Parts: sequence; C-alpha cells; structure tokens
Amino acid sequence: MGKVIRVREVGNPYLKKKSEEVDITNITDDIVDTIEDLKETLLYGEGLGISAPQIGINKRIIVVGAKKENIKYNDAEDIPLTVMINPRWKKVTDDTDSQYEGCMSVPEIRGKVERYKNIELTYYNESGEKIVKEVNGFFARLVQHECDHLDGILFIDKVKNGEFATKEMIKKYGLK
Ligand code: ZN
Repeated sequence: MGKVIRVREVGNPYLKKKSEEVDITNITDDIVDTIEDLKETLLYGEGLGISAPQIGINKRIIVVGAKKENIKYNDAEDIPLTVMINPRWKKVTDDTDSQYEGCMSVPEIRGKVERYKNIELTYYNESGEKIVKEVNGFFARLVQHECDHLDGILFIDKVKNGEFATKEMIKKYGLK
C-alpha cells in the first residue's frame, strides 16, 4: 500500500535534476515502494500524471491515469492507471497543437504549451516487460509533460509569449 507524499513544488531542486534510469533487471523493493507512492499521491491529488522527481526521487518512473470527465482538454479519452519505467518517446508526425496545461508542482498557474500530437512511446511496465505503442492527442501530451520532469524540465519552461493563465481565467474566458 502506497503513501501520499508531499508533492515538490517549483523551485525545489529535485524538479531541476535529470533523473536516473531504473535497472529493469533488478526491480528493488525501493522501486516498488516508489511506484505505490506515486499511484497513491496521484489519486489523492486528482492529477492526471505524476513523476518520481515530484515526490523527491530522481528515478525515471512516471504514472498516468485519468477519467475522461476530469480532463479539461479538447480531445480527452479515458486513460487507465499506467506505470511507466524508463519511458521514452519519439514523434511519429510533425503535427503539434498548443493547449493550456497544469502541473501538481506548479499550483494555480496554467500555461499554453506546444506538444507533438502523435508519438511512439516505449517503456517498461511493473513486470519489467517492454511496451511499445503509438499514443495520440491528450495521452501524447501527458506523456511528453511527464517525461520532461525526468529531464528536469517544467511546463513553465516551455510556455511562449507569456501565455499563462489561472484556472479561473481559463474557465471564465473559455481559453483552450
Ligand atoms: Zn507536471
């Protein structure tokens, strides 16, 4: 059973560091604990995705998962709770779109970020199996956001032209 961990916020050094690969041939108890804590913290925080650095562990692990009704994006779909170890991605097409996104580590603020719409995703699941699949739209955006965390990058580093807004502004003005 995982624990809810305090999410590190912008300015915290864990969020700036490049995280280390997990040795997939040796999933230790510590790694299993980290995965359980990530799941628990994600569910508690009602986020859509979370990465290990956000709970103070610089390992390349992310967890995503969201119900369609909780996703405020144009092209939302249900995303099952999925653990990804050593995730990496590459673009499949040059198509991009720009939408406001938020982050559990950046309270209140949203910012418009350009992301690839179609990517090929590779990761290892909790059993150490390699998974390769194409993901698109919102799911692709989420994966790119979480993988950025593993390289010490926050979405606010990628916002252009000062396109920041509060959650309230987005609702009030119907910003996309
Ligand atoms: Zn984030």
